Amino acid sequence: MRFVPSLWDRATGRRNILRRIFEETGDALFSYAHVRRLDPRGLRERLSIPNTVNLWIDSSGFQIGNMVTGRSNIFDVYEFQNSCSQFAISLDTPGDIQETYRNAILTLAYSKGFPMSPKIYAVATSDGSFGHLRDLVQKYDALDFDGIAVGALIPYGSLRLEQLALLLTTVGRATSKPIHALGIGGYDALYVLAAAGVATFDSSKFLVGAKWRIYHLPRGGMIYIGDHYSSKTTIRRRQTRAGDLPCRCPACLTAKRIEFFQQPRAESVAMLALHNYYMMKNEVQLIKLAMDEGWFHYLFIDRARKSPALRRAMGPLGLRNHRKIRDGLRWK
Ligand SMILES: [Zn+2]
Repeated sequence: MRFVPSLWDRATGRRNILRRIFEETGDALFSYAHVRRLDPRGLRERLSIPNTVNLWIDSSGFQIGNMVTGRSNIFDVYEFQNSCSQFAISLDTPGDIQETYRNAILTLAYSKGFPMSPKIYAVATSDGSFGHLRDLVQKYDALDFDGIAVGALIPYGSLRLEQLALLLTTVGRATSKPIHALGIGGYDALYVLAAAGVATFDSSKFLVGAKWRIYHLPRGGMIYIGDHYSSKTTIRRRQTRAGDLPCRCPACLTAKRIEFFQQPRAESVAMLALHNYYMMKNEVQLIKLAMDEGWFHYLFIDRARKSPALRRAMGPLGLRNHRKIRDGLRWK
């Protein structure tokens, strides 16, 4: 399973620090809604993205559907994606299966008119019926798409892991193409993704969390270490902490003390985001190692012990009957 960091930030100061992530990963995802005003042909240079990094551009169907941005059409989105990306995600209309399907096949047909095309992932959206979802993905599976992106997972969050597991296993059974999970938030969700056989996922949790001064701890714990970056009110003020940092990642080695991350500067937020990124990357590496070496069930048990939501997701994932996991949790 590969972590594709989603790391658009408006502030150049923060972007300069977040660039270090490109040196680590071979992938980066940007939302069309965020970058569409930039010239796609100059995007790599503008954001200092090395040629070795795969650029993923999602269609922002989720944001557009939520009225964060105005209307888009598939031709504008695809032309942008074709000019700069290696992975393009079709324009979805969250909850509307018909329109999402039409957009995906239009994108595929339109892409054939270009000499080169990025890999195209068709978005599987859900209207609440798993039967509809399965039919949609089976139709995609018969077509020339390079993968299936499962969209609008944010409403499922970490509390709805059972729904997330149902969604991903439904998609997984309907296709043999690689599956990408869009917009993943919680750490528990990573275990659902891994157990469901998801190939790639994107997340901006490390960056969004940093603006709320959330400092991630190993294994998915987190603490608030100060006020929201842009908060001018006292309502959100929290008790701040002070002292040494419990981490030896490159960001924390530079920061040295918690107080560094509390400074009202763009760089301190970016460094905090960098730390959070390393935490999530470590968790994904641990999961990957466990899967390669055949002890993923131990890791899963350890996690599920502390997470009732993850235990509920075991049914749809088919893990409830997994002997080692059941014995490990003393499942009754
Ligand atoms: Zn750190």
